[in-house]
Amino acid sequence: MSDQVTEFDAIVIGAGFSGLYTLHRLRNEMGLKVKVLEAGGGVGGTWYWNRYPGARCDSESFIYGYMFDDKLWHEWEWTERYPEQPEILRYLNHVVERFDLARDLQFNTKVTAAHLDEATATWTVATEDGTTLSSRFLITGVGCLSAWNTPDFPGIEDYRGNKYFTGLWPHEPVEFTGQRVGIIGTGASAVQAIPRIAQQAADLTVFQRTPNYIVPANHGPVPEQVAAERRQNFEAIREHTRNSAFGMPYDFQAKPLAEHSDEELHEVLQGRWDIGGLSFMVAGFHEPIFDLEANLRIGRWLDGRIKEKVHDPVTADLLTPKKLTYAVKRIPLDSGYFETFNLPHVHLVGIKDNPVDAITATGVRLADGSEYEFDSIVFATGFDSTTGTLNRIDIRGRGGQALREKWADGPRTYLGMSTAGFPNLFMVTGPQSPGVLSNMPTSIEQHVQFISQLIEEAIGRDAVVEPTQAAEDAWVEHNEVVANATLFPLADTTYTGANIPGKPRRFLPNLDTVVGYRAKCDEVATNDFEGFAFASAEG
Ligand SMILES: Cc1cc2nc3c(=O)[nH]c(=O)nc-3n(C[C@H](O)[C@H](O)[C@H](O)COP(=O)(O)OP(=O)(O)OC[C@H]3O[C@@H](n4cnc5c(N)ncnc54)[C@H](O)[C@@H]3O)c2cc1C
Repeated sequence: MSDQVTEFDAIVIGAGFSGLYTLHRLRNEMGLKVKVLEAGGGVGGTWYWNRYPGARCDSESFIYGYMFDDKLWHEWEWTERYPEQPEILRYLNHVVERFDLARDLQFNTKVTAAHLDEATATWTVATEDGTTLSSRFLITGVGCLSAWNTPDFPGIEDYRGNKYFTGLWPHEPVEFTGQRVGIIGTGASAVQAIPRIAQQAADLTVFQRTPNYIVPANHGPVPEQVAAERRQNFEAIREHTRNSAFGMPYDFQAKPLAEHSDEELHEVLQGRWDIGGLSFMVAGFHEPIFDLEANLRIGRWLDGRIKEKVHDPVTADLLTPKKLTYAVKRIPLDSGYFETFNLPHVHLVGIKDNPVDAITATGVRLADGSEYEFDSIVFATGFDSTTGTLNRIDIRGRGGQALREKWADGPRTYLGMSTAGFPNLFMVTGPQSPGVLSNMPTSIEQHVQFISQLIEEAIGRDAVVEPTQAAEDAWVEHNEVVANATLFPLADTTYTGANIPGKPRRFLPNLDTVVGYRAKCDEVATNDFEGFAFASAEG
């Protein structure tokens, strides 16, 4: 124990896409002494924890990976259009091996606190097992969707059946055959899990608070010819991805939505529907993000698709969103979701106006007193997105100020990567960055590259670096202005924090688009890291 190294140039929290690339960049390319601390028992982040049936990515496999290394991209062959959880985990383990990362990864190590010592300009990082480590730089790669929202339903501890949380799924296979199963939640994870669980369960009851618009995934193997074309065009794909609105190599329709007759619109949307995937939105029309009538026009078209798929009109109606939903909420991808509700053993129960009152010893009781008995309950209750994981760590900066107190009314950052009063602390895909609104590996790479440039600069100047208060204030205001020009803040979503009781309602991601945000960061770097203050490391 005593000869264990505890002082580092940089400590990184999290061993998902963010943490692994940060380690590679800082250690392999910049020669720093780095340690990655990870709460889980292995690498993967999201893909380590989310092992529920049907768990997979909605970004297409050819863009859901690192693009910083040509050889890495070419040597890894994804088998399907959307990679499933085990395959992404294998990919990340391959990355670990390829870049010799394992020796600086420490698992089963949950960081509980990180305090700045202003006199020495170092961060002291405490872990759940009582160990402390210190470093000059602290980088959080804790993920936007890794603070699972454990519901506080009364009685949940007394339930005698099996309980499962989609974001904390067991590593061994879970068997539902012959069981009565209840699932609470109908977000993206539930949309993936429900058709698979329905294949096993004798009876499945789905408790839905908010219906979603869902587009077909059209999942399947990638034809060899398509894979070969992508290999040939890799550089163009990378450029397009990095310079796109959402980190996906698709462009919006050129002709404005308003200039489409209903027939023309149907043709365009049906074409995109048949292709499937997130391109329905990001290669569709941009007007629905800004204009309510345009939004509702697409919504009405999607309502029609639900009616076509779901036979029972009452169930179809319950599955149809009644509020602003399209484009301002993450669109799940459908692999038989709607059709599942045509099965006689699958039931949909709306809980918007009749919420869960309690979990009983045998199942679920709703506010109107109705009771449901289950052998297993699956909680698909989502995440405390973007700020949740950071706020769960006791991070203290200058004057002992706690980050969660500074952010009590909502997060305040500069570029979503740094916050005033917390020098040498950098966040990968923090709040007010495009992170969660983009194909995340694309944003993660860009963030890590910017952060490592900043660290290089601070080392070169022998300085500590943090954003100025003025730069932070301007960034927060800019984000609000950009978001308020759209319909996003009006919707009750994880983007606005509306899914978490008591969370301040703030629009969390940055909406400058991936290409716009990248340009802003490049400009900051070119202008001598404008908005950042470099102070002597001596204090
Ligand atoms: C079901 C699901 C589907 C998704 N699909 C897509 C998709 O289609 N496209 C897309 O772009 N993104 C998708 N995402 C988002 C996904 O999170 C990112 O793509 C990406 O995996 C984020 O990587 P990360 O390293 O930033 O964070 P994560 O993968 O979340 O990793 C963060 C790690 O930090 C660790 N950690 C957190 N706090 C602490 C602490 N205090 N101490 C120690 N360790 C800590 C966590 O244990 C975790 O392992 C999806 C997310 C989910 C949950």
